[in-house]
Amino acid sequence: MSITLTSHGAAGTVTGSKHLLEVTRTDGSTTRVLLDCGMFQGEAVYKAKGDPNRRFGFEPKDIDVLVMSHAHIDHSGLVPRLVAEGFTGPIWSTPATRDLCAIMLADSAHIQEYDFAFDLKRARKRGREPEELEPLYTVDDVQPAMALFQTTEYAQPVTIAPGITLTYTDTGHILGSAAVHLAIDDGERVLQVTFTGDVGRYVDRLLPQPAVFRQADVIICESTDGDRDYADIAEAEAELLRHVEEVCVQRGGRLIIPAFSIGKTQELLYTLNTLSNEGRLPRIPVFVDSPLAISATDIVRHYSKLFKPDVQAELAKDPDLFNFPGVEFVRSPDRSKQLNSMKKPFIVIAASGMMEAGRVRHHLRNCLPDPANGVLAVGFCAPGTLGDELLRGAKEVRIFGDPVAVNASVDKMEFYSAHADRGELVRYLGCQDAAKVKRVFLVHGVDHSLLALKERMMGAGFRDIAIPRKGERFVL
Ligand SMILES: [Zn+2]
Repeated sequence: MSITLTSHGAAGTVTGSKHLLEVTRTDGSTTRVLLDCGMFQGEAVYKAKGDPNRRFGFEPKDIDVLVMSHAHIDHSGLVPRLVAEGFTGPIWSTPATRDLCAIMLADSAHIQEYDFAFDLKRARKRGREPEELEPLYTVDDVQPAMALFQTTEYAQPVTIAPGITLTYTDTGHILGSAAVHLAIDDGERVLQVTFTGDVGRYVDRLLPQPAVFRQADVIICESTDGDRDYADIAEAEAELLRHVEEVCVQRGGRLIIPAFSIGKTQELLYTLNTLSNEGRLPRIPVFVDSPLAISATDIVRHYSKLFKPDVQAELAKDPDLFNFPGVEFVRSPDRSKQLNSMKKPFIVIAASGMMEAGRVRHHLRNCLPDPANGVLAVGFCAPGTLGDELLRGAKEVRIFGDPVAVNASVDKMEFYSAHADRGELVRYLGCQDAAKVKRVFLVHGVDHSLLALKERMMGAGFRDIAIPRKGERFVL
């Protein structure tokens, strides 16, 4: 009878992905399908009144099914809280997304508990009570959430609710990432709804290019990099090698590469492994300083069947594409701290990519004041994050509440950006007959990205393009 869409996150922002489809039938019954349950991060949190991660905008117990696009925290980070607040339905994902969520959400729970304890201590020191009385969720909330996961492979349709069929296609964004295609039968018609999740790039990397998908009536499309066209991408090996040589060889400094534990870290290791196999990598220790990245690398190894065919073929010659002489995977905090007092140059890859949490903050605090060192950003940093501040050329930043001078070089390498640029997004949607698409919703972007992508898409023949505001309801 009616189908509506309401975005409760990633509407005018890049984080907090949450889109609610409500299908009401003639008999009065309603099925509620939530697409993603992501956490707000960075500016979306600082600029909001109150913590937006503590208010869903809907009743978790009223949701029938949750469908995940991929494991990144801005798409999955509130799943434990959704379940703790009463959601009991199935959570659909690809098998790789489920496995990655298991480690990502456990890690996120630790961060929530740690941050809460930190805020509590600071508030008490100042003689105040903390703003919140408990962490967003705890480690104990993760297992009940993981128990609700059900999986289906790419291109394997599955019925997820009466009259609603789900099919996933690969978007090549991170391991297991998928576009969500729902065929929704409301008793009068079948509406084809596609939610792109995050779309990967058409460059030569571990994962395949984004897959084509069947004709949709409605498309909910991400817009993260909708305002930019990447220059022709320099060969990744040559560019990464240039940064290593400049910082570690010529200046004798440390190269800090803040990177998402999932996706970027493995792509970086794969490039370094290739350079090492070819004998081009200088003999410099490489530390992967992130227990989460180590677990994620194990999962990526396990799913090598999802790699591009030519990368799978490389496995015959080199069975481990993420390990080479000189690399050390650092699990213990003690070993991580030892790196601070090392005198010789080294490369460290540590999370988080936007530099908001994780061990990378210790390395940055330690290394930023020395001009010999370098920071190499390899991905998108949301406005308001430490990564964004550094890329904008800040001369001083605050880390753990203390001012830190920035004298180290700060560079960006776009090859590892996991998001399609404007041209690539239009190329991705090129498999569609634009005239048959009734409506496009642009989400997961800041204002100028959304507007720039809208303009480009109108040029590509898409007609009705909406940019939802948070909480705005559309009848489909
Ligand atoms: Zn993502």
